Amino acid sequence: MPDVKDILALMEDLTPEQQELVRNASAFAMEKHAGHERNSGEPYYIHLYETARELAELGMGPRTVAAGFLHDCIEDAEVDPEEVAQEFGEEILFLIQGVTKLGHLKYQGAERHAESLRRLFVATSQDIRVLMIKLMDRLHNMRTLEHVRPDKRVRIAKETLEIYAPIADRLGMGRLKRELEDLAFRWVDPEEFVHMERLIKERGTDREEELAKCLVPLRDELAKNGVMNFRTEYRIKGLYSLCKKLERKKYDIENIYDVLAVRIIVSSVADCYQALGIVHSLWRPLPGKIKDYIAFPKPNGYQSLHTTVITGTVGVLEIQIRTEAMHREAQYGIASHLAYKHLGSAKIDREQTRQNRVWYQFLLPSVLRGKSDDEMQSVIQSSFTSAPEWLRDIGETYSKDAPADERFVEGLKSDFFSHRVFVFTPHGDVIDLPIDSSPVDFAYAVHSDIGDHIAAAKVNGKFVSLGTPLKNGDIVLIETKPSAHPSQKWLEYAKTSLARRKIVNAVTRKEKEDEGLKARG
Ligand code: MN
Repeated sequence: MPDVKDILALMEDLTPEQQELVRNASAFAMEKHAGHERNSGEPYYIHLYETARELAELGMGPRTVAAGFLHDCIEDAEVDPEEVAQEFGEEILFLIQGVTKLGHLKYQGAERHAESLRRLFVATSQDIRVLMIKLMDRLHNMRTLEHVRPDKRVRIAKETLEIYAPIADRLGMGRLKRELEDLAFRWVDPEEFVHMERLIKERGTDREEELAKCLVPLRDELAKNGVMNFRTEYRIKGLYSLCKKLERKKYDIENIYDVLAVRIIVSSVADCYQALGIVHSLWRPLPGKIKDYIAFPKPNGYQSLHTTVITGTVGVLEIQIRTEAMHREAQYGIASHLAYKHLGSAKIDREQTRQNRVWYQFLLPSVLRGKSDDEMQSVIQSSFTSAPEWLRDIGETYSKDAPADERFVEGLKSDFFSHRVFVFTPHGDVIDLPIDSSPVDFAYAVHSDIGDHIAAAKVNGKFVSLGTPLKNGDIVLIETKPSAHPSQKWLEYAKTSLARRKIVNAVTRKEKEDEGLKARG
């Protein structure tokens, strides 16, 4: 059995109480899941240990690591939430319940729903730590996916490709994204997977030796020209990412130059540009292939200089140049800034990159709590224009009519999703409604024809009254009948202006018709 000591060894500067917390969580998990096995026949505890270990490796704090140990205890070991709160406190209970909630959101298989589900996912997490635990939970499940029943396996792998890997990507967690993608790809498209493995071997792994030779003059030139403290490494493209790129390049492998790429990691931004000049003086660059992601970072915060050059011996080669900080960020993304040590220091945003501040504002609004409105407004406005598109959209689900900046600030003030509920149609479409909306609002949000003919509503398979408030993650089914029509009573149930307007229209129309009938009598 793995030892919790190894996890504690990964975590720096813990107080004795914090160590005790992690140890207690491990012991609690082992006790509550005793006799409980995974599909592989391994003790369930291994899964909890691995989740906690990955969180510790990301630099997460003791409470998050403890929650990693406990994340399945309510759902799978039927531990009473009260007991968790008593033993570990409300905050850890909140994290575990958040992870459990995410576990109930299932990808229904249609690609057009993926974006809504990704948003719902982030919305439901509320706290970025919940999302980190869920991502590490999924990572271990993917690493052990071969033990799962084949049909279930493909569903989980697809969900990983459509939901989890894109979230990791958008959080800048490049390493996690790549591992999730390649673990899933194997099951989603086994034939293509084998094909990509072959291409990677021919174009990548088999060329490592030539590449090593070609790096010798490069290192000499860098040193001669005064670039101090650099290191070089190479990276081989991920299988899934290669497959996607081949699709884009019309399956012409000759047009893909980055199966094998060289990285030069230097100590300052100035050295990045100097190194780029040195590379270009050594080898001729391909026109149009020089990309400055330092001046223009990718939406997820990625920074580097990229160039593609013609070397004598290795042919066409992509070279990526970045600082150590950019390198760390490209691999761990938001996690590298969430690391416990940084959060503890309270001077969070002072020395962070611009991108990092944006992340905090979107994902950790609580960090901004306590700042005056003016302070908040100015910080937020300065970074609004550089917010990642997808995260910006999240802020905009509030009031679509307000001007962009106000909308954004309003979104932050109200702690994001606390004013919205996200519910599913039976087909898995996500419908986004104001809090306390009813099946009537839902029906009109789906289609006015449905709204105008509601006969009955089912929530999670059970008939409910039309006035029942909907909760996040509910699956709502509306039964319709041509003879059913809106009544005055429905106005008491309707929260959205769309539904209210349609009901008033329908009721007035009906009254007029009735009067007409009477008049004709
Ligand atoms: Mn789990």
